[in-house]
Amino acid sequence: MTPARPTIGVLALQGDVREHLAALEAGGAHAVTVRRLAELAAVDGLVLPGGESTTIDRLLRTFELREPLRERIAGGLPVYGSCAGMILLADRVLDGAPDQETLGGLDITVRRNAFGRQVESWEEDLPLEGVTAAGEDVRAVFIRAPWVEEAGPDVRVLARVGSGPAAGRIVAVRHGGLLATSFHPEITGDDRVHRYFVEMVRSQDGPPVDRPGGTTSTE
Ligand code: GLN
Repeated sequence: MTPARPTIGVLALQGDVREHLAALEAGGAHAVTVRRLAELAAVDGLVLPGGESTTIDRLLRTFELREPLRERIAGGLPVYGSCAGMILLADRVLDGAPDQETLGGLDITVRRNAFGRQVESWEEDLPLEGVTAAGEDVRAVFIRAPWVEEAGPDVRVLARVGSGPAAGRIVAVRHGGLLATSFHPEITGDDRVHRYFVEMVRSQDGPPVDRPGGTTSTE
């Protein structure tokens, strides 16, 4: 059984690790960094932070964490990926770097740096299904962010961009124990998304099914 205060790791190879640790603690978890196999083995859930997905992909191999992490995801480890973390969780990536691979597990196609063609960054208050109450939107901060170009039939869309050039694009999804946002709630001092993830870890509501795993794809 998952304890009331679950241990949730933040993959600490690159990216905004500290902000996620603080948000997880505020959200009710015991937050720890994960860089080594033994640390990965000790967590009830994991956050893949924002940063640079190609760099994190490379470091996952260097630290020999890529395969063990793929195995844990396949075994039902709850994972929350923010921005670069969303890319790492996606089964398919468009506009990836040559040879870029993902961990996979989440039946979505993401377009990397999708906002970057129009605007480097974008901010908007958005309702997030299951997370926000009416009239209490989250401040969504997008930084060279991906969006979800396509989501599989079992994936729940939690949020879409409401206005501007990217209006209607999917930016938050959930499938079983996997959660991903294009934006960075950890930098706004709002811990609701992390609290929601801590609750997911507590209830361990099972692994997604029929997950083919990460693929390589560039456009
Ligand atoms: N553009 C980055 C990538 O491709 C993601 C940016 C971010 O995490 N803020 O990985």
